[in-house]
Amino acid sequence: MSETKTYAYFEGKFVPIEDAKVNIMTHAFLYGTAVFEGIRAYWNDKQEEMYIFRLREHIERLFDSMKILDLSLKYSIDELCKLAVELVKRNAPRTDTYIRPSAYKAAQRIGPGLHDNPSEFCMFTVPFGDYFHGAPGLKVQISSWRRVEDNAIPARGKIVGAYANTALAKTDAVRAGFDDCIVLSENGHVSEGSAMNLFMVRQGKLITTPVSANILEGITRASVMEIAEAEFGWKTEVREIDRSELYLADELFFSGTGAQVTPVIEVDRRRIGTGDVGAISAKIKDTYLQICRGEMPKYNRWLTPVYKGTKVGATRS
Ligand code: PMP
Repeated sequence: MSETKTYAYFEGKFVPIEDAKVNIMTHAFLYGTAVFEGIRAYWNDKQEEMYIFRLREHIERLFDSMKILDLSLKYSIDELCKLAVELVKRNAPRTDTYIRPSAYKAAQRIGPGLHDNPSEFCMFTVPFGDYFHGAPGLKVQISSWRRVEDNAIPARGKIVGAYANTALAKTDAVRAGFDDCIVLSENGHVSEGSAMNLFMVRQGKLITTPVSANILEGITRASVMEIAEAEFGWKTEVREIDRSELYLADELFFSGTGAQVTPVIEVDRRRIGTGDVGAISAKIKDTYLQICRGEMPKYNRWLTPVYKGTKVGATRS
């Protein structure tokens, strides 16, 4: 039997994943000073092709996160896109896959400063199925934890240290018997899910929380807004959402690379709408998944084909 190695890209070269190791004195490990992206690649069995979803937009957001955390790399956006394609090619998965690039502070020293602190880069891939194990609709709680504020750890950067906040909220929710949670900002308004953005359908309107609500500016969120308008003529209203509005919503759904589009059917043990997956959530979910798998050619500009293609994603408009 031939042995297939899994590779990572680590500090300038492709190495077997077991050799991609950081020293325990690395700044990012000591202080959470790394930024990352979570990118999905979708396997299309019929076309025998892997499509990376909105690769360029993810790498652009990585650069935005790097700016916030004072990281800089020797690679351009194009070069990192090409490295991601190359890594997937080398690992040659024929299943849905998660691509995880990280830029991190690599000094080996005590002291939290970002200055005089070199940046490094690594990336790995892992097989990645349904984040919620196939649950058609989620039961969530409002977390007692609050979302990190922009002046504490900016949520619009995908900063590793901030995921301690996510971890606290998610763990409590799961231990209390919920699938996930919705997190509020300090001002009491809704921010987002543990690692996904939130949409609400109420009084015939599709609504999502604003970028000023301490959310990560989700790439799936932007995709959902575009799909909703282009395919169904639903323009998304972007505004603050109160906790009590969630209880009165007709439909709720999460959006995110991991979550994709996942309906929420209960909040704090209160049924949302009819308690079943809503019609609008279902339509958006189906359309989104078709697009991701390359089944709606009109949206192929969002896809980077790995095995046969040469194109690297679309540019930010
Ligand atoms: N919020 C948080 C905190 C996240 O970690 C994620 C996942 N990246 C999202 C929202 C959704 O963002 P995206 O659609 O770009 O994956």
